[in-house]
Amino acid sequence: MGSVAEVAAQFEELYGYAPDGVWSAPGRVNLIGEYTDFNEGFVMPLALPHTAVAAVARRSDGVLRLHSADIDAPLVELHVDELAPLSDGGWAAYPAGVVWALREAGHAIGGADLHLASTVPTGAGLSSSAALEVVTALALDDLYELGLTRPRLAVLAQRAENGFVGVPCGVMDQTASACCTEGHALHLDCRDLSIRQVPFDLAAQGLRLLVVDTRVKHALGDGAYAERRAGCEAGAQALGVSHLRDIGYAELPAALQKLTDEKIRRYVRHVVSDDHRVERVIGLLDAGDARAIGPVLTEGHASLRDDLRISCPELDLVVSSANEAGALGARMTGGGFGGSAVVLVEEADADAVTKSVLDAFAAAGFTAPRVFPAVASAGARRER
Ligand code: ADP
Ligand code: MG
Repeated sequence: MGSVAEVAAQFEELYGYAPDGVWSAPGRVNLIGEYTDFNEGFVMPLALPHTAVAAVARRSDGVLRLHSADIDAPLVELHVDELAPLSDGGWAAYPAGVVWALREAGHAIGGADLHLASTVPTGAGLSSSAALEVVTALALDDLYELGLTRPRLAVLAQRAENGFVGVPCGVMDQTASACCTEGHALHLDCRDLSIRQVPFDLAAQGLRLLVVDTRVKHALGDGAYAERRAGCEAGAQALGVSHLRDIGYAELPAALQKLTDEKIRRYVRHVVSDDHRVERVIGLLDAGDARAIGPVLTEGHASLRDDLRISCPELDLVVSSANEAGALGARMTGGGFGGSAVVLVEEADADAVTKSVLDAFAAAGFTAPRVFPAVASAGARRER
């Protein structure tokens, strides 16, 4: 499913003519920096080899037709003049939202036919939604010659998810999908949206990053995300800063003393320390010592589990069983309450660590997780 030639052929079968082009955009995992994006802090995602592939043709009559090979639903037909936020709620809201966001930003999108297929697992915390948005935005940027920069394209894709789909996500996922490059992790400063490609060629150092998808769907996530977000905002306000980004790691002890609410203290401690962990990881990677980031990942997990309290038994079990089996470090990644974890291993230990995690899940009576290597892959691009 999802090869460029297949998606182009499916487009032609569906619409009766050949697409103008085929584009792809990847899912991502976040290496470190969780719940830091809306605090205007740092994140560090990398693109996965899994991609959403879309065949698209430009139309000039205002009609927008959308189809996914992965969803058992008929073709959705809309008109660009009638797009309204939350008008539909189904999967088509993601690409339709991109058209809406582009038009809202003043770009004259006159319609399109789109067919897509994706290998990004949905709801696993690997950003299948951002892949879908970014592939749509890139195709329209090309077909309508909008000349958008990649960071701008990501912001418009985020606008689609926030303003049209109705999900209050930060800009990390879309930026990762739009801006990552092969062999690198992306250091994104969520304050000014500046980016830097940080070398992340683990194979060259005999290492591997595993993604463990627990297959636990993050159903609890929505309310908890909003609650953490509100707590962080309250913390920033109590400390007299616009965002928690403004509290440096050295100032953390003094800041914690000023906070009386136990829960807000925990949230602040997580955010400020995770920003610091991103900086530590970058320092280690720049120094060519990827092996040494393992303990920083595990520390990050403890912070998410104990301070932010967004882990779950399955994610905790990935981390503990992987580390007991000799992993260099591990942490949950993404919004929490399910989804995926990342595990850093020596290449030679990858199979043994994977087996230990699978055995631990079987012993606990949990559904078997899906384990695959996260090779830092290319961002969105035109395929043909
Ligand atoms: P995540 O981004 O972590 O995978 P989300 O809940 O943000 O999870 O996004 C998943 C939603 O994105 C799906 O429920 C669906 O509406 C849409 N989606 C993702 N991939 C596809 C696809 N290949 N075809 C149709 N819709 C998709
Ligand atoms: Mg998503």
